[in-house]
Amino acid sequence: MKLLEDRIRKDGVVIGDDVLKVDSFLNHQVDPDLMAAVGEAFYSKFKDEKITKILTVESSGIAPALATAMQFHVPLVFARKHKSLTLKDDLYTATVYSFTKQTSNTISISHKFLNSNDRVLIIDDFLANGQAVQGLTEIINAAGATTVGAGIVIEKTFQKGRKMFDEQGVHVVSLARIAAFENGQVVFADERDV
Ligand code: 5GP
Repeated sequence: MKLLEDRIRKDGVVIGDDVLKVDSFLNHQVDPDLMAAVGEAFYSKFKDEKITKILTVESSGIAPALATAMQFHVPLVFARKHKSLTLKDDLYTATVYSFTKQTSNTISISHKFLNSNDRVLIIDDFLANGQAVQGLTEIINAAGATTVGAGIVIEKTFQKGRKMFDEQGVHVVSLARIAAFENGQVVFADERDV
C-alpha cells in the first residue's frame, strides 16, 4: 500500500536492527485518514469471506481493527492484557510473549464475545515473530470459531511470523512488508523483489 509505505519512509524511525517506531501515526498518535485507508484495504482483501468479527489485542491493534470493523459493519473485540474487576470469569486465555516489551502477557477474551459460528479476521499493527496472532488463533480455536485470516499493517518479513503462518496455512495479508533495515533506512520487500 503506497500511502502507508510513503508514511513509513517519512515518519518511521528505525531502532536498532529490528524495530520500527511509528508512534506519530499508528502506535501513540493515530492518523484517522490513514486508518480509514487501512480499513478499506483489508475490506477489499477479505470482503468475500463472510467475516462476522474482527479480533485484535490491546492497545496498538485497536485503531486499525476498528477502521476495519467499520468497513465490515461487524463488532471489533480486543483481547485484554490485564485482568480487572469487570473481567473475571468465563474467559478464553492465551500466553503471548511480547517482542517489543520482552515479557509474557496473558491475553483474555470473554466467552460471550466469541462463539463457534464466528468467522474471524485478526488485525494487528505489526507482524514480527507471530506471537500475538498465534495467541489470538489459540483463543479462536478454543471458542470453536474459524480463523479466516490475519490482516497486518506492517510486516517484517525477516522475522519468524510470516513463515510460521504460511506453514500453518493461515492467510496473512500485510499492507507494508519490510525486508530489512539498512543503515537506519527501511527496505521494503517490493523494492527487493525488483
Ligand atoms: P509478534 O507477536 O508478531 O512477535 O509481534 C507483534 C507485536 O509486537 C505487535 O502487536 C506490536 O505491538 C509489537 N511489535 C513487533 N515489532 C514491532 C516493531 O518493529 N515496532 C513496534 N512499534 N511494535 C512492534
